[in-house]
Amino acid sequence: MPIGDPIIRFATLESTNKTAAELLKLSKVQHGAVILAHEQTNGRGQRGRSWQAVPGADLTVSLVLKPTRLRAEDQFMLGKLAALAVAEVVQERVPGAVRVKWPNDVLVERRKVAGILIKNEVVGELVQSSIVGVGINVNSRAFPEELVATSLWLDSGREADPSEVLIHLCAAMERRWSAWEGGDRGADRAYSDLLWSRGRWSAFVRDEEPIMARPMDVDRHGRLIVEMENGEVGAYGLDRLRFAPR
Ligand code: ATP
Repeated sequence: MPIGDPIIRFATLESTNKTAAELLKLSKVQHGAVILAHEQTNGRGQRGRSWQAVPGADLTVSLVLKPTRLRAEDQFMLGKLAALAVAEVVQERVPGAVRVKWPNDVLVERRKVAGILIKNEVVGELVQSSIVGVGINVNSRAFPEELVATSLWLDSGREADPSEVLIHLCAAMERRWSAWEGGDRGADRAYSDLLWSRGRWSAFVRDEEPIMARPMDVDRHGRLIVEMENGEVGAYGLDRLRFAPR
């Protein structure tokens, strides 16, 4: 099934990822299904943080994917494909520069316009299924300053139809997905090219200590490769390294 077939719509959900996981467990959804909530009452980000969206104005969805041969150690690939698909959807609607903040927030200039939260089910050495949760700020008109957020509306001055944004997202993800499943590795380069603050000294927290480092790329496990001020180069997962809060 192509991604976006079917789109299952709900008026109110705690979180689209949660419902997608329940439906998947009951075998009620297959590869390509999309769970869409008009309103999300308990949307989630990384580490249990919350995701805010204005009902009807913004987009909160989860895509169900079933890779045919994705090894667990390569699962970050899904984050890359999703980030690239979301970045494409955003780029087409705003004039500003779109970047991906590792691991998978999408920024316009330096403000977060979309967040992605992926939950994979690994069986043996393979990823059996993946739920790709995406929140895109479409028509939200204001954010608390500390979120450093933006929306398509704020950046373009125009309303966008969340349903059209979703159709575009599904098509973009389908293109990325089928290219990758067909052996195309172009997403690696495309993701690196969009990496926010690549080559620039940036504030990070490593093992709870503030440090300055220069992102260079991500490795195949999705770890961020950074250069330290003493010239050392290391690859770190989210368990040890994150961008400092802004
Ligand atoms: P950070 O953005 O600080 O790096 P993170 O990447 O760990 O955080 P995510 O899991 O991607 O966080 O998203 C959750 C966080 O995003 C929340 O804690 C909140 O700060 C912020 N947030 C929540 N809703 C939105 C939104 N609609 N747009 C932008 N940012 C949001």
